[in-house]
Amino acid sequence: MSTRPNRRSRGRAARPLRPALRSLGLSLGLALALGAAAAATPPLAPLAPVPSLARIGIDGIGADRLTALEADPELHWWLELDRVLVVLAPPGALARLGRDFEVELLAEPPGSGPFVLVRDRRRDAGDDGFAEIARGGRWTLGRLRAEPEAPLPAWPVGGGELVPSERAPRGGHRFAFAPNRVLARAGSNLFPAGEEPEPLAVDPEIVDAVDVDRWFAAVSDLAAWNRWTRGTEIHEARDWLVARFGELPDFLVTTQQFTVPSPTTNAWNVLATLPGLGSGARRVIVGGHYDSTSESPAVAAPGAEDNASGCAGVLEMARILAVWRPAATVVFACYSGEEQGLYGGTAHAQSVVNEGLASSVVLMLNMDMIGYTGDSDLDVLVETGSTHAALLGRFQAAATAFTGLRVVTDTSPGGSDHVPFVNRGMPGVLTIENDYGSYPHYHRTTDLPGALTPVMAENILRMNVAVLVELAGVPLFADGFESGGKGQWPATTP
Ligand SMILES: [Zn+2]
Repeated sequence: MSTRPNRRSRGRAARPLRPALRSLGLSLGLALALGAAAAATPPLAPLAPVPSLARIGIDGIGADRLTALEADPELHWWLELDRVLVVLAPPGALARLGRDFEVELLAEPPGSGPFVLVRDRRRDAGDDGFAEIARGGRWTLGRLRAEPEAPLPAWPVGGGELVPSERAPRGGHRFAFAPNRVLARAGSNLFPAGEEPEPLAVDPEIVDAVDVDRWFAAVSDLAAWNRWTRGTEIHEARDWLVARFGELPDFLVTTQQFTVPSPTTNAWNVLATLPGLGSGARRVIVGGHYDSTSESPAVAAPGAEDNASGCAGVLEMARILAVWRPAATVVFACYSGEEQGLYGGTAHAQSVVNEGLASSVVLMLNMDMIGYTGDSDLDVLVETGSTHAALLGRFQAAATAFTGLRVVTDTSPGGSDHVPFVNRGMPGVLTIENDYGSYPHYHRTTDLPGALTPVMAENILRMNVAVLVELAGVPLFADGFESGGKGQWPATTP
């Protein structure tokens, strides 16, 4: 389905109906014909029009028109899923909306079960009694073919902190249907139509310092180890990270030990702190987990995309800020124990709270799976809690100014290391490529560097560097406080 917005204003002459509308017109015509036939027979009580399920294309219509559309009193219900608004509405209302938007009527999904919302449903989930209606961001709306055996939970569960298992269900996590909510909003709809976000105060030269070859070399180094939290090779990856951050001038590199239960396993975060040149009142955390898993983690868990890609992204951003020193203190963090249930991120978030520093954190930027796209649409998902939703606009501004990315946003965080920060009141933001649900090597022994599409990581890193630089306060046009060794950090190491 094309979801290009129909920007035609209400005042102009009508254009020919699009195919979806023509089919709607046909069915209305049929209904009228049937009505005429009925008129010849004894009078019947008028039937209320049966509401239809439809998708409305909303890409780029703007926050103001979107808000008005969702408030339309004739909608029985609506759900916003990135570029489409799924609605249940009477035919007359759909015909009216079709004058301003692309409207596509949907067939009634098969089955007798309830509608459900599914989080993180994989494209290869197979037939598990679920009929898909629409997808957007991490969410899928669908219908069960039969009643579920137990009542479905309501989202969010436990503050949004899903505990991922080492064998995450490919069919995702199912929740009770709850309409009239934004599940995923396109970045193009964060602002009113025609209104540009405030430009970022960022020196473009810093964004251009992102070196995707250097990033890919780090991914390849990390993917050479089995980084399963319960294995032994992950210790070599930990030590490699300590050494790489240790090469950067003025970084204070530490490890943080914690345990992962069942069975109790020791694990370590790697934390590299770059002291701010300013008063030290602001802190930024840039994180991504370095542990990985697979269907046979004791045998192999290369985790190139999940998540050498994000961890190498943390290192790449550290290498850039080693040259363009920020006013804020920045902690670059590589976490372990993520795949068993966010244990590393939780240990770090709690230690920030314990040290009394939580209120000084202006951004916790999490990168998890940033190096893959399944198609030419460079879509990135940016996710944070509703408290800090204003940050999403900064990512959209950065993406517009410095990348070819299409941003999709979500304000119900779950399933990665930003969640423990969000749950402790800090502005945790996840950036993840939006095709991760179709990445064929997810949690497989085949998640190798050759499966990646580096252009995706390059764009996400450019967006993230821009936001980081703005929030951490790197002075404009300062081209290196240190030695002027921009971009000269080694891409590979002995
Ligand atoms: Zn991950």
